[in-house]
Amino acid sequence: MPEKQTALTVAQEQLRIASEKLELDHSMHELLAHPKRSLIVSVAIKRDDGKTAVFKGCRVQHWDARGPFKGGIRYHPNVTLDEVTALAMWMTWKCAVVNIPYGGAKGGITCNPKEMSKGELERLTRRFTSLLYDFIGPHRDVPAPDVYTDAQTMAWIMDTYSQITGYSVPECVTGKPISIGGSEGREQATSLGVVVCAREAAKILGLKLKGATVAVQGFGNVGMNAAKIAYDMGCKIVAASDSMGGIHSPSGLNPYGVYEHKAKTGSVAEYKGSKSITNEELLELKCDILIPAALENQITKANADNIKAKIISEGANGPTTPEADRMLHEKDVLLIPDILANSGGVTSSYFEWVQNLTREHWTVEEVNRKLEDKMVQAFNDVCKLAKKEKSDVRTAALIVGVGRVAEAIKTLGIWP
Ligand code: NAD
Repeated sequence: MPEKQTALTVAQEQLRIASEKLELDHSMHELLAHPKRSLIVSVAIKRDDGKTAVFKGCRVQHWDARGPFKGGIRYHPNVTLDEVTALAMWMTWKCAVVNIPYGGAKGGITCNPKEMSKGELERLTRRFTSLLYDFIGPHRDVPAPDVYTDAQTMAWIMDTYSQITGYSVPECVTGKPISIGGSEGREQATSLGVVVCAREAAKILGLKLKGATVAVQGFGNVGMNAAKIAYDMGCKIVAASDSMGGIHSPSGLNPYGVYEHKAKTGSVAEYKGSKSITNEELLELKCDILIPAALENQITKANADNIKAKIISEGANGPTTPEADRMLHEKDVLLIPDILANSGGVTSSYFEWVQNLTREHWTVEEVNRKLEDKMVQAFNDVCKLAKKEKSDVRTAALIVGVGRVAEAIKTLGIWP
């Protein structure tokens, strides 16, 4: 297939590979290739200057055979229905791989939140929630944060949903502030999962974690926390980057210091004692573990041959194209795919939902212990299958995820 790919062509190609391996019949493949429901809405808001603006929004609900839909909401100028559809599909497989009782969904609004005031973002979020009201909820579809939405956005969703319902419904959304039912450990959960997967992969390769060199692309929520957790486990962080540039230090960076520098200057660039590198160079650095934690389509057939890392643990969604996957597998790079590596985020969302439904609040130790158990179990399930199938880890993860969803749909049957 052509290498000029979108998130949706990549997701479709991955499903095709898994369906073939699972020998799914044509109708099951067709069912899984398309979302169960896609909602398109026009979100009208009053701007601060009194004028009315209208934004395109959508919520794609892919499949819910294993439980309520679950997935983030993204505010970004590049949001399209196709991109959100791909992300919803990945959520379905991800929840199944880590074996939590959810289906997959994703939502988004095509807007530039950096150019909007807090008041405008609040009105946008509340209006969007009201438009989705009949289709979301604790047992239907539970949103969460994604790119450029955060705990505050989730608080506005919870409040709007609760006001319309008539009573407080904290379990209608996850990723909330702790003061209104958020879970301990949520901020670091995705990153903890990414690093736990890298640690388990290192065991397979006989690679010592202490002193293992790590490069992190994207020093945002996932990348920065992954760098801190890996550093605390004894790894040496040799490079990091963000949208403004990258830094390299063969003797090791202190990610806590890099974080403070970024908080002051807005970027990791020009951190003291480091050399500057481009994002492209960072991906091709000599290192043991590479953590792509920025964007989609970063590792492609153009650079896969130059990748020197032994382990890649995908923090971002969709950073590697299928062609690059094949090339890396041939080079014996152990790549832990997004639907496994970054599933710690949705797993901790699931823990938040369970705590809300049972009106409990767990300690951070309890959350992290449960998270680690789930991640290690999922990692072992997938790696066992990869060994049996002699496949790469992504294909095995897709077989586990797609297989569990197909089995659930078969068991439920198609009504009427
Ligand atoms: P974020 O906005 O906090 O961080 C993204 C980082 O990537 C920023 O530092 C940004 O400067 C950097 N970046 C942007 N363009 C770049 C480029 N061209 N090169 C290098 N860096 C660049 O977002 P996040 O929450 O950390 O999410 C990152 C990725 O992880 C996304 O793909 C997201 O879908 C995925 N993810 C996030 C979570 C979560 O819990 N936050 C869970 C699962 C998956």
